[in-house]
Amino acid sequence: MTDVERQQALEAIAAEVLACTRCRLHETRTKAVPGEGDPETEVVLVGEGPGFNEDRGGRPFIGRAGDLLVKLLASIGWRREEVFITNIVKCRPPDNRDPQPDEIAACAPYLRRQLEVLDPAVIVTLGRHSMARFMPGARVSQAHGTVRPVDPETGARDALVFAMYHPAAGLRTPAIEVESYADIAGVPAALIDARRRREAVRAAASTAVPEGVDASAAIVEALSAKPKPAPWTLAETAGSHPSPAPPSPAPASPAATAAPSAGDDPAPQLTLF
Ligand code: SF4
Repeated sequence: MTDVERQQALEAIAAEVLACTRCRLHETRTKAVPGEGDPETEVVLVGEGPGFNEDRGGRPFIGRAGDLLVKLLASIGWRREEVFITNIVKCRPPDNRDPQPDEIAACAPYLRRQLEVLDPAVIVTLGRHSMARFMPGARVSQAHGTVRPVDPETGARDALVFAMYHPAAGLRTPAIEVESYADIAGVPAALIDARRRREAVRAAASTAVPEGVDASAAIVEALSAKPKPAPWTLAETAGSHPSPAPPSPAPASPAATAAPSAGDDPAPQLTLF
């Protein structure tokens, strides 16, 4: 798929979302929120659903939770324009209630198609509803900061998923905000690991296979390789270990576009502990 075709495919999905009436959430929305970001990115962030500000603005994560998300990304040298940000449900649940299972199911084809088009190396889930889509059965209090292979049925062919708390939880609970900074510090390493896995899969797929040998075996082996754990967790760094320095963004920028210059939106100084 060319860059132009990818952009056009994302715009076509967005147009369908804006006119969608598949579930009851269309009755109370102001604007549907398809998602936005770099169509060439390797990293997709998936939240739960639009809130008050997003419903008014038609864009994801533009309220206080969005401000924290931008700070979290800046702590690893990334900008929101370099990733793609979307949600499990594209319309605001009334009063910010949890999305219902039938609403999530009705909206799922849009996210699956977005992932098919974007073909990300890493999906970062923000909150438990998003995590449930990619890590069924996991609890966010235990799974945050961890990484797993993604089921291709989600639309992401050979990606890793990295679980995080929703930024709104960090706004409510200072300890979760601290943990979120520690968690996101592991995302660049997950991206590097995901690139290695994808290269291994593609190399296996392109290798000439002798007659009678199952070519899919090497691909399955590459896909099932256990991802390396995120390099830092709060438990590992608190107390006995020094606070982690943010990884260098240069080798793991999520966008195909050039990395920002030093004077462009500088990352804030962070105090983790
Ligand atoms: S939440 Fe999704 S399925 Fe429901 S109306 Fe909005 S776009 Fe359609």
